[in-house]
Amino acid sequence: TSPQYIRNFSIVAHIDHGKSTLADRLMEITGTVSFREMKEQLLDDMALERQRGITIKSHAVTMHYQYQGHKFELNLIDTPGHVDFQYEVSRSLTCCEGAVLLVDAFQGVEAQTVANAYAAMEHDLMIVPVMNKVDLTHARPDEVREEMEHTLAIHAEEVLGCSAKTGMGCKEVLEAVIERVPAPQGDPHATLQAMIFDAVYDEFRGAITYIRVMNGTVRKGQKIKFLQQGTTHEVIELGHFTPRRKATNSLAAGQVGYLICNIKTLDKVNIGDTVSVATGEPALKLPGYREPKRMVFCGLYPSDGQDFKQLREALDKLVINDPSFEFSPETSDALGFGFRCGFLGLLHMEIIQQRLEQEADIDLVQTAPNVTYEIVTKTGETMEVHTPQDVPDQGDIEEFRQPIVRVSFVLPTEYIGGIMKLCTDRRGTYVRTEYLSPTRAMLVYDLALADVIYDMHDKLKSTTRGYGTMDYELLGYEPGELVRMDILVKGERIDALSIVCDRRDADVRGRAVIKKLKEEIPRHMFEVPLQAAIGTRVIARENISAMRKNVTAKCYGGDISRKRKLWEKQKEGKKRMKSIGSVDIPQKAFLAVLETG
Ligand code: GDP
Ligand code: MG
Repeated sequence: TSPQYIRNFSIVAHIDHGKSTLADRLMEITGTVSFREMKEQLLDDMALERQRGITIKSHAVTMHYQYQGHKFELNLIDTPGHVDFQYEVSRSLTCCEGAVLLVDAFQGVEAQTVANAYAAMEHDLMIVPVMNKVDLTHARPDEVREEMEHTLAIHAEEVLGCSAKTGMGCKEVLEAVIERVPAPQGDPHATLQAMIFDAVYDEFRGAITYIRVMNGTVRKGQKIKFLQQGTTHEVIELGHFTPRRKATNSLAAGQVGYLICNIKTLDKVNIGDTVSVATGEPALKLPGYREPKRMVFCGLYPSDGQDFKQLREALDKLVINDPSFEFSPETSDALGFGFRCGFLGLLHMEIIQQRLEQEADIDLVQTAPNVTYEIVTKTGETMEVHTPQDVPDQGDIEEFRQPIVRVSFVLPTEYIGGIMKLCTDRRGTYVRTEYLSPTRAMLVYDLALADVIYDMHDKLKSTTRGYGTMDYELLGYEPGELVRMDILVKGERIDALSIVCDRRDADVRGRAVIKKLKEEIPRHMFEVPLQAAIGTRVIARENISAMRKNVTAKCYGGDISRKRKLWEKQKEGKKRMKSIGSVDIPQKAFLAVLETG
């Protein structure tokens, strides 16, 4: 296909505004999948993605459409819909010339709508603004159009209306993509230069690399080079996604497709890397490659010490499929042998944890997540710290830095006061307020990432009755008044319960953690003192008084099967506990520190 008849685009939207539904509808209109073949939501094919209703990894599909006497090749590149995967979003957008910006005709402009629109503009994409769900009886098309014009620098008359559910207006969206989005530039005869925007792992074929060819042509059997990695490979197979893989002989400038090169693990394929020729002068490296940045860390321990090997195998398997996740062995006095794991963000963490429990069937003890800290010691050394246990003693610290993010909240104006208070309580720095319409506003604050990841999303939802949305971007590291707080159970420091917090919050946090632990740790035959301390200074204490434990005592003379059931239950409860010294600490207690943020 001549580049003139190629259009590369993506659909960007706030979650639930109908991106997947519209993508399916476009595939159906172009006959890319027959009705019979069409499963619901074809693009989100991973079970977990479907369960969570979000797109985690980006995918691509090539569609063909006859328009005004020409056959067009339309490449739809799907982008992940969550802030944790912002980098992948940006790589995907680099491969497009245009973006359909989808907004729900009832919900209107939301935080990720704004973030996505800005991202598309930064990549100089032609934006095709579309209002979806116009079939809803409570749709408010005029207001939403106005919001879009007001916030996104879009002319209201350019906004198309459609219903991805009924199909109404969807053909017009497709044709607007052809008419408004520019054809890709690039010379099919120049030296090969292609962008890797995604990669997935196939059990039988190894890494499948998703590329957009910027210049030149890549052919079957060709020797290619990944410029960032510096590795060379032979192209064994290449082709398009229809959305199943369909092999072809070549992919030329402007086209989107996949490469299979007998690469055994995904970490050999860097998203954002450039593909060029293996011999002779290679093309210029495309800008924008970045190492995945793990922002959130936690410890994962098998709740039964014997599962350590099994857990390692499961993690090894996961990392093959998702190199943005990392892990390394860690020992905890309290929890024994486990792993320190790094994630792109909190959602990423949840996803990995769920996969482990579902696919590997391992009972896990997870420690409270923490962000990465930068510490400058008195000796002038700068260290990156991924776990509170590794924070040096207060006297050795010159400067203690933490990641700061700029958070945008989009919410009905009546809740502005509530969110401002929430941000002020967390020592946020006010940046600005923008009105999207008379009733909705965008509020921008700079906050510590640690405060954002713990529960900001939940707090936002409860404060705004579900109407508020948020998005954030990393600004950098800034010095803070941070301290390491330790928890002692029966005089023994439980390393896995140490946290880093603001000095000014330490007293309140300490008391709350101790109170929570008192609720979670069962009574023992002896008294269990609990303490929170900074260095040697105890800031909170409680005692769990002694009690005789005998669950069967309750069912006097009851029949034996009922007693047996109780014993079973008690055993079950034990399974998720860790014995530390002589004290049984249930898994939930390790998350107690999290709930008191
Ligand atoms: P995504 O998160 O942006 O991919 O959104 P989905 O495509 O998963 O859609 C979210 C929800 O909105 C689903 O329940 C869809 O059935 C529904 N939906 C999508 N498009 C429309 C539409 O045009 N009209 C109506 N009424 N519902 C829609
Ligand atoms: Mg979706």
